[in-house]
Amino acid sequence: MGRKLHITGIEVTQFTWVLEAIAKDDYYNGFNLVYTPGERQEMSGHILQVRTSAGITGTFIGGSKGDYAQMEMYAEYLVGRNPLERELIHNDLKRALRKLDRTSVGLVDIALWDIAGRLYDAPIWELLGGYRERIPAYASTYHGDENGGLGSPEEFADFAVTCRDMGYRAFKIHGWSHAPIAREVRNVLAVREAVGKEMDLMLDPACEYETFADALRVGRACDEARYFWYEDPFKDSGLSHFAQKRLREMIDTPILMGEHIRSLEPKVDMIVAGATDYVRVNPTLDMGITGAMKVAHAAEGFGLDVEFHAPGPAQRHCLAAVRNANYYELGLVHPKAPESAPPVYTDYSDALDAIDADGSVPVPDGPGLGVEIDWDYVRAHQTGSRILAGR
Ligand SMILES: [Mg+2]
Repeated sequence: MGRKLHITGIEVTQFTWVLEAIAKDDYYNGFNLVYTPGERQEMSGHILQVRTSAGITGTFIGGSKGDYAQMEMYAEYLVGRNPLERELIHNDLKRALRKLDRTSVGLVDIALWDIAGRLYDAPIWELLGGYRERIPAYASTYHGDENGGLGSPEEFADFAVTCRDMGYRAFKIHGWSHAPIAREVRNVLAVREAVGKEMDLMLDPACEYETFADALRVGRACDEARYFWYEDPFKDSGLSHFAQKRLREMIDTPILMGEHIRSLEPKVDMIVAGATDYVRVNPTLDMGITGAMKVAHAAEGFGLDVEFHAPGPAQRHCLAAVRNANYYELGLVHPKAPESAPPVYTDYSDALDAIDADGSVPVPDGPGLGVEIDWDYVRAHQTGSRILAGR
């Protein structure tokens, strides 16, 4: 007989924090946050709490306003469910939200895993099946700016050397918004020239390049400089399997795709189409730890590696339980700007200095997600709180 408990309530708390020396960049009217001395950017965050009849509350920090609007559509369904029946909840919500992107489900699922870990008094990685306790990280930069931070190939190269000297074994460039493509090419080559042969380098234009031809031009520079991967290059926004397959045929550098298609079946279809080398997944965006582990194991079945998108406790737990993965994405980082995450944990960080001398991050070892929320900070910066269902 399984354990009998049920979800009693869903609550969302909103809070603010400030990123100093960061502002929305001009070109797109603010879709990229970049280093801008003298400016400050007010950010808003969310904490999801899922309460249970066992007195255990699962939490997740993150998600967008849109996610919580989506969650309101099914919060009543969750109340009364057994939080340990994650697979049933996953499948019910997969069907119920079939016309939507389902990104909100990831937030709920991670909180349910947190509940399970607290109930069994074990970290999530142990419940998933441990494979490693430390994960090599790459320094993942803010987008390039025009303000003297990451403003030139020379500045990117200097920062890569700094990261290498700190112990990072890998460095990922997020290039500029709407840059001349020649500067993107120079950046790829200059960073390799500066760090030497040993460091793994990745490039993520985040779909900024206008054309396939530009993607190809920069991809050939990645070949020349022996990049580890090339990710989401141009404005198909990472959606065209056909273009990705053509690009793979024309360059040697492995490509990493899948950040912008959601969940298991579309990612498997992408693999079958021959449209990627590494498979992108994110527990927050791809239906939680449950959804991300399905993708990780599907990739394993094809003999491919899965690369987890973005930092966070859930990503660390998944990576600790997966063989076929290479790196943890630590960021966004910058030589002059503060870390991009809110200061809401007492015992956990994704700042530039969160690595050990060997360039790795640890996996939280406490029950569930294994992180402590700094509720004093949250309460002092709280802007709202809502019960979505139950109490
Ligand atoms: Mg990316």
